[in-house]
Amino acid sequence: MNRRISKSFKTIFKSLYPNFNESEIENSEEYFFFILSNYPDKSEIIQLKALFFIFSFKVRTLIISDQNISNLINKLQSSNVETLRKLGFSITALFGLSTARSLSGEGSVYKYLDYPVYKNSKIKKRENSIPKNLEVAVIGSGAGGGIAANLLNQKYEVGIFDKGHFPNGETNNETFGYHNFYETNAIQQTRGYKVQLLAGMGIGGGTSINWTTSLRTPDNILSEWDALTQQNNHFNSDSFNKSLDYICQNLNVDETNNKIPQKEIKLAQGLELNKTSYKIIPRNTKNNDCLESGFSTFGHSDDTINSSYKSWFSKDKFNEENIYSNTHVRSLSISNGKATHVNVEHNGQSYSVAVEKVILASGSLNTPKILLNSGYKNKHLGQHLKLHPVSGVAGKFSELQNPWAGSMQGIYSDDHLFRKDNYGYLLEGLPMHPSLFFPFFPNNQDNFGDFISSYNYWSGSIVLTSDTSSGSIINKNPQHLWKYNLNNFDHENLLHGIESLVKANFLAGAEEIMVATSPTMHWKRESNEDIESFIGKVRKVRNEPFRILLGSAHQMGTARIHPNPSEGVVDLNGKVHGLENVYITDSSTFPRCSGVNPMITIQAMSHFLASKI
Ligand SMILES: Cc1cc2nc3c(=O)[nH]c(=O)nc-3n(C[C@H](O)[C@H](O)[C@H](O)COP(=O)(O)OP(=O)(O)OC[C@H]3O[C@@H](n4cnc5c(N)ncnc54)[C@H](O)[C@@H]3O)c2cc1C
Repeated sequence: MNRRISKSFKTIFKSLYPNFNESEIENSEEYFFFILSNYPDKSEIIQLKALFFIFSFKVRTLIISDQNISNLINKLQSSNVETLRKLGFSITALFGLSTARSLSGEGSVYKYLDYPVYKNSKIKKRENSIPKNLEVAVIGSGAGGGIAANLLNQKYEVGIFDKGHFPNGETNNETFGYHNFYETNAIQQTRGYKVQLLAGMGIGGGTSINWTTSLRTPDNILSEWDALTQQNNHFNSDSFNKSLDYICQNLNVDETNNKIPQKEIKLAQGLELNKTSYKIIPRNTKNNDCLESGFSTFGHSDDTINSSYKSWFSKDKFNEENIYSNTHVRSLSISNGKATHVNVEHNGQSYSVAVEKVILASGSLNTPKILLNSGYKNKHLGQHLKLHPVSGVAGKFSELQNPWAGSMQGIYSDDHLFRKDNYGYLLEGLPMHPSLFFPFFPNNQDNFGDFISSYNYWSGSIVLTSDTSSGSIINKNPQHLWKYNLNNFDHENLLHGIESLVKANFLAGAEEIMVATSPTMHWKRESNEDIESFIGKVRKVRNEPFRILLGSAHQMGTARIHPNPSEGVVDLNGKVHGLENVYITDSSTFPRCSGVNPMITIQAMSHFLASKI
């Protein structure tokens, strides 16, 4: 079977990417097989394998010649039949990823882009023997777990369990970073609209790999949280604002820690010309002298970045002996409405740790799984998944853009954050690392050779949609999956944002513009197509799966807060309804999405809730 799949891979790959030599093709193929073995949604892989198997037989050439494969895939991507569109989308996204990532650390495209190569580094596992009992077990050491553990440690004997590693202090390459510091190797997509899910995994969770954009929760959002939970000035209150202040001060959040990187200067100019305002992004870093090289998102944990690991677990604040890394929490033992034990796996062995209190902070994708595996039931658990779905636009300029280098994100525009009924979008810069680019702009090969040699002249930007759409868990213990569909309201906001970015790129002088659709929409100044007619086509992109390519780095809302157990999973103190001693302090508590990048909001929520425990 694998030999046949390999044969099909090579045939299709060569037709899509004619520039690669044999060893580069093998390099990409190796990664392709890695995806086939590790992609969490096994049924999708079975279908793909079956198709590749059939495609490998010679009889196929009677219907599709090798020369026509690229055209055929393009047609599949544009098809009105959803299954065919999905096939075209899956092949191009997978192949795009396989050109950028590699198990050796050097993606096949790297040398064409002059992209820096960092060797696969090492992970040193730390061995702390698992305790027999704890007063408080915090599960997850990220944005929601870090500050909670820090605060509770002042009152209780706290132990933190995290299934990931400590940051390794190295500059890691993309693949090594995604494989060691991200959930599911950062290859998982939802069912439905196939949104790619990026979430941190390791000590510090998302805060050890994220892009350091540090925005306070807007008052409008806090007021809506109040309305949704039938409160008056509970979230939009002095108390919550004090939590925000506390977090921002401790993380040194400030816009003076940022400056507009080369890759976003054109975006800033274009937005201004399009009469869209923009602001410098405040960051949670030490200062702006040490703007990282763009690689902190691969688990580097740059010493200048105030991650949870650095801020809340520093040696003077938390005893590292009580941080249990590489320790996977499978479930809680619950008896008479109380969690009695946390059941963990460490180095292939199972342990049961007796506990008095449990703080769940494993992130929106994992907190519901632990509760479901523990037999806890609430109809809102694993529902209302918000993703801040993101899509992108890239522009090619005559000046060098250094598209991945410098501060991860320099500017944002919130002009349309509350465009309709308190929902809208943010526009932000994008660090255009190859793995973030090639799967989202897969059809850049009308002359692929020209395209890759001009990569450093491209600059990327994103629309981050505040979503009213909701995803939900597909509960298939032990392998839980997620599904997510985008509604028309959100689609319309997303398209509005994309249009705004296309205009900004055009006004800033872009020679070419690409939009992250399937197939990639591509405008060239030298062509006869005027920009208005291109924008007209963008506006007409239908709200159907596999038309706009979507990613998510912000998952929220899967155990939402509400005083009434029939409306939410945790009460206003973050305590799980019906359980005496289990609390949730992470992004899953959000009553609606935060609208802005959520790290600061999550930490403030955690501070707000944990202060009462
Ligand atoms: C690439 C990327 C860039 C981002 N950039 C920004 C940004 O610039 N600004 C911003 O505001 N937000 C950003 N975010 C989002 C932000 O980092 C997350 O929303 C935030 O970290 C989520 O906090 P959390 O506490 O809910 O979960 P996390 O921070 O993800 O922490 C969850 C932790 O739980 C652990 N865990 C999970 N399951 C288990 C288990 N069963 N047993 C033990 N441990 C477990 C995980 O290993 C992880 O460490 C970014 C996210 C990504 C992925």
